[in-house]
Formats: sequence, C-alpha cells, structure tokens
Amino acid sequence: MDQVTCGQCQSGTLKRRLVSRGGGAGQWLGLLLMLLAAAGVVYGGFNLFITLRGTNETGQDVEAAVRSTLADAGIPDYLTEQIFVEGDEETTELAGLSAEQQALFGEQRLRYLSTNLGLDFYQAMSGGLYFLITGLGLVTGLTGWLLTRRRVFRCSSCGALFDSI
Ligand SMILES: [Zn+2]
Repeated sequence: MDQVTCGQCQSGTLKRRLVSRGGGAGQWLGLLLMLLAAAGVVYGGFNLFITLRGTNETGQDVEAAVRSTLADAGIPDYLTEQIFVEGDEETTELAGLSAEQQALFGEQRLRYLSTNLGLDFYQAMSGGLYFLITGLGLVTGLTGWLLTRRRVFRCSSCGALFDSI
C-alpha cells in the first residue's frame, strides 16, 4: 500500500488500525461471543487436563498392581518389564517359569494391555471432544473480538481517524 498523507495535519501518514466499535449491536454480539468462548475454553481446557491426568494415573495404578502381583508370584523383574515395553512380545524366556507362573504372566499381561487399550480409547474420545470445545472457543473468541473492532486508518502523527482513504 502506498503511503497516504493525512488530510488533517498534512504531515503524518495513515496506517491501518483496528479500533473499538464504541457501542452498537456488533459490539454487544462480539462481547457475548467472547464470554461464551471464554467459558468454552475454560470448560474444555479444564476437562482436557483432567482427562489426560486422570487416565494416566489409572494406567499407572494398573501397572503397579501387575508389578506387585508378578513379584509376589516370584517372577523376575526383567520378565515383568517385557509387559510394559510396547511391541515386545518375546516370551521364549518364560520357559524357565512354572506352568502357574506362565499362566499368571499371560493373564497379567492381558490385563495390562486391555486396560491400556480401554484407557486409550476413552482418552482419545473425551480428549478429542474437549480439545474440539477448546478450539471452537478460541475461534469464537477471535470472531467475537473482531466484531467489537472496526478497521480504520489512523494518522501516525496527529491521530486522526478516517473510515476510508
Ligand atoms: Zn494527521
């Protein structure tokens, strides 16, 4: 954009600015949208935080329970660790265990995996929903803010406002 000289003081140049609308329906609608958006962001953000934190704690609880159950059965720690290593399905080392220990190991492994899958699904569903609410809140808030503003041209020297140039 070419520089346009101010018609008021004849010395400053005009710059694009967003200024308050100063009343009117658009301003009130904008403020209402911003209030709704703030509520949405707080609600969505808070629940997103709770969801992610809560499920992690539950997942850790199951992991701790599996650890102590297998330790009580006399299964070595390095074998138990295999359950928590993602994608590691190596079970040949279990040959040294008794039949009861092997059965318990498989059972606890399934317990951990199924709990984790359930949590991941729950986490993805509710986390995604709250993430969406938070995102919509941010977009709505920005829209509301823009509604309370109007685009003008402001003189960098004397501060005069012009609707158009
Ligand atoms: Zn001026």
